[in-house]
Amino acid sequence: MTDYKILITDGLDESGQAILRASAIVDDRIGVSADDLIGIIPDYDGLIVRGRTRVTAPVFEAGARLKVVGRAGVGVDNIDLEAAKTRGVTVVNAPMSTSLAVAELTFGLMLALAREIPRADVTMKRGEWKKRELEGVELNGKTLGLIGFGRIGVEVGRRAQAFGMNVVAYDPLIEAQEIKRRGAEPIALDQLYACSDFISLHLPLSVQTRDMLGAPAFSQMKSGVRIVCAARGGIIDEQSLIAALNNGKVAGAALDVFAQEPPGKSEAVMHPRVIATPHIGAQTVEAQSRAGDDIAAEVLNALQNKPLRWKVS
Ligand code: NAD
Repeated sequence: MTDYKILITDGLDESGQAILRASAIVDDRIGVSADDLIGIIPDYDGLIVRGRTRVTAPVFEAGARLKVVGRAGVGVDNIDLEAAKTRGVTVVNAPMSTSLAVAELTFGLMLALAREIPRADVTMKRGEWKKRELEGVELNGKTLGLIGFGRIGVEVGRRAQAFGMNVVAYDPLIEAQEIKRRGAEPIALDQLYACSDFISLHLPLSVQTRDMLGAPAFSQMKSGVRIVCAARGGIIDEQSLIAALNNGKVAGAALDVFAQEPPGKSEAVMHPRVIATPHIGAQTVEAQSRAGDDIAAEVLNALQNKPLRWKVS
């Protein structure tokens, strides 16, 4: 047993906590407020978060002993990486743990959009029988445009091929040959917009990708396109999406992520042709268990100066 102290602020699967406890003192302060975090962080060598806790510059400044921040999942947009760098704090994540869960949710959302499954259920529960109105479309034979062809995009592409879809992918950071090797047809973004029946986003939110799907993008798309986003809120400009849904350009959208979370009864959530889920992409028993185990091991590696598999910065 060493003197390492690790703070968990967004919960962590029990098996991950057990890995940590074998080598460190662990405090689980799920839901701690931003102010309280700044008050208690000086005691800790390591901090483990998911997407809720914002690890801001003041947190890094207050964390006099802090050596590592671990994100039990993929996206690190809630962590101020510049501040981490300035303070010499290592940031690690668990990028492999949640890909399948997100890919499966994406597929569920795509099927739900194609067949209007949520509306079918809601109308049944009202005692209605909307059989004639609920005529959907098939995935078979349709073109799926994937924007971002990393871990999750590739898994979505594989599943789409099993459903008889034609899969095209745009990813400016991956060579065309590699996109082919991973199982999709490489394509320019404007062509992807022009030919896709379904578009699914699997890229990070960044300065370059914020509002990427705005009015100019929607204007280039096929009429009746269906959009799925289980990547990050902010990549789709929600106001432009609503306009595109209202003028019929977009037939439906399924969103797991929102510019503001939680979005409450926002216009996007309440739109009749939007299927909304509360950022549940990684919320499976298996993914959370893998994320907990992976991040626990990686945070201990960082504290013990061992080689790191998933150093973000
Ligand atoms: P990844 O890093 O493996 O893949 C992302 C890909 O996006 C990379 O190949 C990169 O080259 C590409 N990319 C970067 N900029 C691009 C651009 N401008 N246009 C097109 N492609 C671009 O990441 P991943 O693990 O596949 O995750 C993808 C997204 O899913 C991330 O935004 C992540 O935060 C999100 N995610 C969401 C949930 C959820 O709960 N809904 C869970 C996990 C991950």
